Amino acid sequence: DLPTVAIVGRPNVGKSTLFNRLVGRKLALVDDRPGVTRDRREGDVQFGGLSFRVIDTAGLEEADDDTLTGRMRMQTEAAILAADVVLFVIDARAGVLPADQPFAELVRRSGVPVILIANKAEGGAIAGAYEAFSLGLGDPIPFSAEHGEGLGELHEALKTTL
Ligand code: GDP
Ligand code: MG
Repeated sequence: DLPTVAIVGRPNVGKSTLFNRLVGRKLALVDDRPGVTRDRREGDVQFGGLSFRVIDTAGLEEADDDTLTGRMRMQTEAAILAADVVLFVIDARAGVLPADQPFAELVRRSGVPVILIANKAEGGAIAGAYEAFSLGLGDPIPFSAEHGEGLGELHEALKTTL
């Protein structure tokens, strides 16, 4: 069986963009409005000699009502627990926000190895990357899912973690 990598984080940090970047096809819907990724999506990835399955998750807040919130929280938790590695994504421009915390808590509690990705860091916009240390999820990789920056560092991290 392929190892599984779950992409986790609050809405709008760029999870689906990262998913599409890894899968190499636009399987996940990217949108400015939080809440667009309703269901989790999976794809098989060949990445510089690594083979794995990647899961794009919906976020806890990507919901219209409590019922959906519960379902999506369960989906995110299930994806984390099924994963060999979690890619935890934050927005390097926005920094660490309160909304990141419940997601980080789920990941920390799971004990699943995590790679921290400070996305939207193209052009050196990595101010928020330093705040990322406070999440207790390790050293952030400055990354740009949109521009394909940071892939080398991500590959190294996956190679040592998978
Ligand atoms: P998700 O809700 O976490 O799945 O986030 P999406 O992948 O849907 O992206 C949310 C928004 O962030 C979209 O407008 C994307 O175009 C934008 N975005 C994603 N990755 C990057 C990036 O690397 N840099 C910048 N500047 N914007 C990005
Ligand atoms: Mg999404």
